[in-house]
This record gives sequence, C-alpha cells and structure tokens, in this order.
Amino acid sequence: MKSIGIDLGGTNIKAGLVDKSGKILFKTSVPTESELGYKHVIEQIIKATTIVIEKDDDVVGIGIGAPGIVSAEEGTVKSPPNIPGWKKVNLGKILSDKFGKKVFVENDANAAAIGEYIFGAGKTTKSFIMVTLGTGVGGGIIYDGKLFRGETGGAGEIGHVTINYKGRKCNCGSYGCIETYVGNQRIVEKVKREIKSNPDSKVVELAGEKLETLSPKTLYDAAKLGDEYAIKAIEDIAVMLGAAFASTVNLLDISTIILGGGVSGFGNFLLTPLKKNLKERVLAPNRPRVKIKLSKLKNDAGIKGASSLAFYHS
Ligand SMILES: [Zn+2]
Repeated sequence: MKSIGIDLGGTNIKAGLVDKSGKILFKTSVPTESELGYKHVIEQIIKATTIVIEKDDDVVGIGIGAPGIVSAEEGTVKSPPNIPGWKKVNLGKILSDKFGKKVFVENDANAAAIGEYIFGAGKTTKSFIMVTLGTGVGGGIIYDGKLFRGETGGAGEIGHVTINYKGRKCNCGSYGCIETYVGNQRIVEKVKREIKSNPDSKVVELAGEKLETLSPKTLYDAAKLGDEYAIKAIEDIAVMLGAAFASTVNLLDISTIILGGGVSGFGNFLLTPLKKNLKERVLAPNRPRVKIKLSKLKNDAGIKGASSLAFYHS
C-alpha cells in the first residue's frame, strides 16, 4: 500500500510517495511562490502532486498537511499565514476532482501527530500529545487511537498554553503563551538580550561578533563545547516546556509526550532537565507514568505526516 503526502510550507511545497512503513519511495519539491497569489499556490500544489502521481498512481489516497485553519470534514483550508489572498479554499475537492483519488486535508500539527501514530514514536502508544518545536509550537492529541479534534477541530493548541499570565503578548492576543518563550525567533531574541552579560560565551564565537548566524542550534553547538551560558539557556527552555507539558498532562491524563522539531534535537541538554521538571510538576499519580519520546519521523516529517492521513482513514 502506498499513499501521497503533500506538505504545504511557506517556502516550498514538498510531495512524496510513501509506503505503509513510512518509507519515502520518491519525493519532489516545488517553490510555493506565495507572492504570486493564492491561485498560483494552488497551481503549484497541483504541479507537485502531478510529478509524484506520474511516477506511480497506485495509491490509497492523497494527504495534505496545511497551516491555517483546516476543516478536515470539508477539506477546506482557511487563511494560512503568509499566503496573501487565500481566504477559504476547498483543497480536498480541487485535488480529488483533478486526480480522482481520495484526498484528506489536515492541519499540519495534527498531520504530524497522525504520522507519529501510524509510522513513528506513537506506533506502540494509544494516547499521546505530539509537540513540534519550530517557529511556533504546534500540538496534536491522539487519544485512544484517534485524533482528538475538540468541538470545532481546534484542539491541541499547546503553543498557547499560558506559562505566565502577566507575560509577553502573544500573536493570539493572550499573554505569556509558551510559544512566546520557546518559538525559534523568541529563543534568538532572548539570547541576544542575555549575551550582553555573557560576552565570553562560545555562542558569540560560533554566531559571529554581531550574532549574524545565531539560531537555536547555535545554543546546542555551544553547549556541546561545554559553554555554561548555553547549557543554562537550554535548561531555561526545558523548565518552561516542563511547566506547559505538566499542565497539559494533568488536564488530559495523557502521560506520553512526543517531541519533534528543531529544538527537540538538543539531546540531554534539553531532555534531562525537561523530564525532571515535568515529573516534579505533574500530579503525583501521573509521576511514574509520564514520559517524553522523540519524534521518529525527523527529515521529511511533513511529507510522512501528510501521507499517513490516507493510511489512517483507510
Ligand atoms: Zn498565544
């Protein structure tokens, strides 16, 4: 059994042919070119799909992971960030009319969760919370073998769990959401502020005098060199994530968290303090059960997650 996965990103649209074990048999990528308008983006999605389907059209379906507000039931994607003019598009209908296949559209964070459930670290777990650390903090909940959508499909927004009610303003309108502290750009801003009092940190050596190449990964590279500031900065991220995850675990009584995205690759610099903080903060009955697993999809997680939708529904 094979399926096609399409990952609608801000810069590129990636598409791939994936088998039931999660192996990518073929993949391609076309530029999103959102500056040319949303109709062009739809053409680019069709182009990427065509390249894959021409290789092999013996597939159970096509899955799409998209940012923005997705109605999986209708197959529509509303207002994805960074694609001007795109209000509400029925991608599901457009693609099924064009290719004559079943099409499954899902929010990209939910697609990542289903991907882990079908192919990855969630294969042996019936319930877990998937968290993707990137520009934002994405979340998806699998409960008892099913994606938990909530009343309107908006469940799983762990990025907007508040860890400080008097904290900084979030894009969502609330204050002190976890995303405003551990989103990639927010990590970079914090390091830039703090580095002034830590001028001897390896971070400066690695990122350049003006910190021109500074990214969250610089912290990891500096930590590996034994840099005290970087180790402490990653620990700060772990403490904040621990607080957000503990609230979520207590609320849902789901004890497994699967972590994906760039910052999840920080190894034990992140995982050791994260596990400690999470354990300390969850309610006593949850303490022995709570665990953090790392995403197994890694490269091309977007394609794999999207392709898993067709397997999940068939
Ligand atoms: Zn928020």
